[in-house]
Amino acid sequence: MATDTYGRRIDYLRISLTDRCNLRCVYCMPAKGVVWKPHDEILTLEEIERFAAIAVEEGISKIRLTGGEPLVRKGIIGHVRRLKSFTGLEAIALTTNGTLLARYAEQLVDAGLTRVNVSLDSLDPEVFARITRCGRIEDALAGIDAAFAAGMGPVKLNAVVVRSLEQDLLGFARLTLDRPVHVRFIEYMPVGGTAEGECEPGAEGWTRADHVTADEILERLAAEGAAAGLGALTPVQRDKAPGGWGPARYYRFGDAPGTVGVITPLSHHFCGECNRLRLTADGRLRACLFSDEEIDVRSVLRGGTDEDVRATIRSALESKPESHSMRVGTTRGMSQIGG
Ligand code: SAM
Ligand code: SF4
Repeated sequence: MATDTYGRRIDYLRISLTDRCNLRCVYCMPAKGVVWKPHDEILTLEEIERFAAIAVEEGISKIRLTGGEPLVRKGIIGHVRRLKSFTGLEAIALTTNGTLLARYAEQLVDAGLTRVNVSLDSLDPEVFARITRCGRIEDALAGIDAAFAAGMGPVKLNAVVVRSLEQDLLGFARLTLDRPVHVRFIEYMPVGGTAEGECEPGAEGWTRADHVTADEILERLAAEGAAAGLGALTPVQRDKAPGGWGPARYYRFGDAPGTVGVITPLSHHFCGECNRLRLTADGRLRACLFSDEEIDVRSVLRGGTDEDVRATIRSALESKPESHSMRVGTTRGMSQIGG
């Protein structure tokens, strides 16, 4: 079992398969675009698998594939199948924008991946296109349908709440009435934007005015839901919550099959329960989303022994900070870190 300096059990590894993406979400990628890393700086799938196998030996039991957009990475199905064969790995999950999921859902299930989080910030086609700068909502919705049709579960939708986007939260809540979909509202986080020449201080585009707390989200949902006849919004007990590896708190309207949840990285930070490490697509091990301290795993994977790789995991555990201390901005953006 892996524990860090503060006694937290670390059993969850998020792997960014690529820094590339087929969308350009306004809060994730800078308006001026992203310079993709050259191919030789991106870990090969074999390198990721070698690292993951050692991480599993060190106590990691859950892996989430993310990005960038993980479904644009060639070879992802075989990669899932190989990861899935590791003894000691309980589960593997995917975070995706969903636009390519209709193409891959069945193959993913066949390879052993059923847990999927689809990021979807608006149900309005025009707002969706504005947020993603180029996306078509039909593709994301088809991806969600395909996930259900292929037997994936739990299927969760992640919506980042940004005040100026004026999202229809109740519209999302209504989705939970028809099928077991779990909509999680995520507080907008100040990630990115402190690189040289960027706005200072803080993350590009992020403002305190745009940050909506989970308490406000829940108040709005409860009031709008009651007014629309959805019934009372009641908390779901932790042991009945849709299987999660993170700190979401879940609620349900009446006896709806789905739930709504909130993730509160800022307003009620959950650093004390943090269970994760992140591997970036270019092979940096990151112990905290908000800390720019990274360990160079790529050169170790390319020139070192398995013991050297193991040592990088141990030093990440040693360097994992106790809390993010309300830090605003990071050198790299979310698509590069692997959100
Ligand atoms: N492309 C995939 C997707 O969109 O799900 C995976 C990578 S994306 C970086 C992972 C998650 O990070 C998405 O749910 C996205 O909404 C979220 N995200 C990106 N920037 C964020 C920010 N500044 N605050 C909160 N969440 C953010
Ligand atoms: Fe791409 Fe996901 Fe970032 Fe949107 S949030 S730009 S889909 S990586």
